[in-house]
Amino acid sequence: MLTIKNLHANINGKEILKGINLEVKAGEVHAIMGPNGSGKSTLASVLAGREVFEVTAGDVTFNGKNLLEMAPENRSREGIFLGFQYPVEIPGVSMVNFMRAALNEHRKYKGLEPLSASEFLKTMRQKSQIVEIDSKLTNRAVNEGFSGGEKKKNEIFQMALLEPMLSILDETDSGLDIDALRIVATGVTKLKTSENATIVITHYQRLLDYIVPDYVHILYNGRIVKSAGKELALELEEKGYDWIKNGDE
Ligand code: ADP
Ligand code: MG
Ligand code: MG
Repeated sequence: MLTIKNLHANINGKEILKGINLEVKAGEVHAIMGPNGSGKSTLASVLAGREVFEVTAGDVTFNGKNLLEMAPENRSREGIFLGFQYPVEIPGVSMVNFMRAALNEHRKYKGLEPLSASEFLKTMRQKSQIVEIDSKLTNRAVNEGFSGGEKKKNEIFQMALLEPMLSILDETDSGLDIDALRIVATGVTKLKTSENATIVITHYQRLLDYIVPDYVHILYNGRIVKSAGKELALELEEKGYDWIKNGDE
């Protein structure tokens, strides 16, 4: 589904990604861990097409298409979803209208008819159960005044509605209490199929108790320095990152 080869990216002339290689297949869950400032969010942003980052080398293909040539909105329409570390507030735009517009935009791209208001509400009600989101929130402006937990639940709610092929979740667990963490993480698990794939960026093993990864990668200093199965997350929990850092020097 996703093939990343030798990806290098800069911000303001400073190299952040220094040759990333990664292959993600349908049905897989990949966890990306690593110390702060390693480039995890940068990788997510580059895949989503945020333009502040300049790709200086490498190739990324998504379902055989050159991802780096695609506009950000087309990456989304093609099935890439980015759950943000810090979800943005959109004052004045209600969740219902925002999500209906987004979903119908995706449907149009696939050659499907738009959903009517009543069809959309029905779909929304079903999907809202996945993350146990309060239906009152859907009448409010997108993320405006939402608590940290509500914002993160809302990200997964959007993911449930859009049914992406590849979801990239950047620290979806940060700032969540234990109950919200469980709800968000089991929500992600419920959305998992053999056709889609997930990349979870996280600092903590506890998220991976719910979202069990097939592969764990350590990103350090702009490179994936180690890849293994889910046991690597436990090893990190126990040993921290120092052994990785020392090995690098
Ligand atoms: P991580 O998500 O692994 O903590 P990031 O990808 O957020 O790391 O950041 C990697 C590096 O890129 C850091 O040194 C950070 O300061 C730098 N960086 C990220 N975004 C910007 C930006 N908008 N402007 C300047 N530097 C940035
Ligand atoms: Mg960080
Ligand atoms: Mg980050």
